[in-house]
Amino acid sequence: RQVLRASSVFKSYGDTAALQGVTLEVRAGESLAVMGPSGCGKSTLLQTLAGITLPNAGEVTYAGQEGVQNLVLLDDETRAALRAREFGFVFQQGLLLDELNAAENVAVPLMVDRLSPSDAIARAGQLLAQVGLGGLDDRRIGQLSGGQAQRIAIARAIVSNASVVFADEPTGALDSHTAGDVLELLLASTVRQHRALVMVTHDESVARRCSRIARMSDGRVISDVRVTS
Ligand code: ADP
Ligand code: ADP
Repeated sequence: RQVLRASSVFKSYGDTAALQGVTLEVRAGESLAVMGPSGCGKSTLLQTLAGITLPNAGEVTYAGQEGVQNLVLLDDETRAALRAREFGFVFQQGLLLDELNAAENVAVPLMVDRLSPSDAIARAGQLLAQVGLGGLDDRRIGQLSGGQAQRIAIARAIVSNASVVFADEPTGALDSHTAGDVLELLLASTVRQHRALVMVTHDESVARRCSRIARMSDGRVISDVRVTS
């Protein structure tokens, strides 16, 4: 099943053309690695698919709880609500809130979704256990290792049952051993639970663990292949 599709998407920042006609679909349960040289448009594509950045031309359609919608045509509030409900995000630095503890960070999307704080914290505790951080609920973000912080980011990305998880260099700041563990967790938390994963990475060995690799150059997708292993 196709969950996301970018059709003839163009995006410029002033005179800089970041996306020059990208058409790409994402299917449920697949992991798509987006690769290419720095500045070729990977992050812009990820942000456009996720409805964070609006393209200058083209459509981004998402087949979710409300049927098929063109994200480009939704008003900002509706698009933000859809993002919070149906998409999860993991970035190179987790963007975790330092003033909150581990469980509170994971619980944020649930509270945005109007779950009561006590139920949200309880659910967050279950997710922390699931990502191998059982018992660290009260730990401050500043007292966690980089790998632990990324596990929390993964827990937060899936806590509200997101159907697509977007990850931009999720293992880029980790040593290779920790990176392998975090990647394994990310794949287990997404594709093996029928979510789609869209991941920007510079690392060929990371990309090869995905089910598909799209390579970009100069704002275009120049190759899109299934990984056979
Ligand atoms: P990548 O992720 O492949 O490094 P990006 O999508 O970040 O590429 O950037 C693509 C191009 O768009 C680059 O030339 C970059 O400098 C430019 N760009 C990206 N975001 C912005 C922005 N917010 N403002 C201005 N230029 C941007
Ligand atoms: P990466 O290529 O590792 O994704 P970048 O350093 O190219 O990281 O960009 C990180 C973010 O910064 C991008 O997603 C984009 O939104 C923003 N950005 C990139 N280039 C520019 C730019 N020239 N001006 C403003 N913002 C930019």
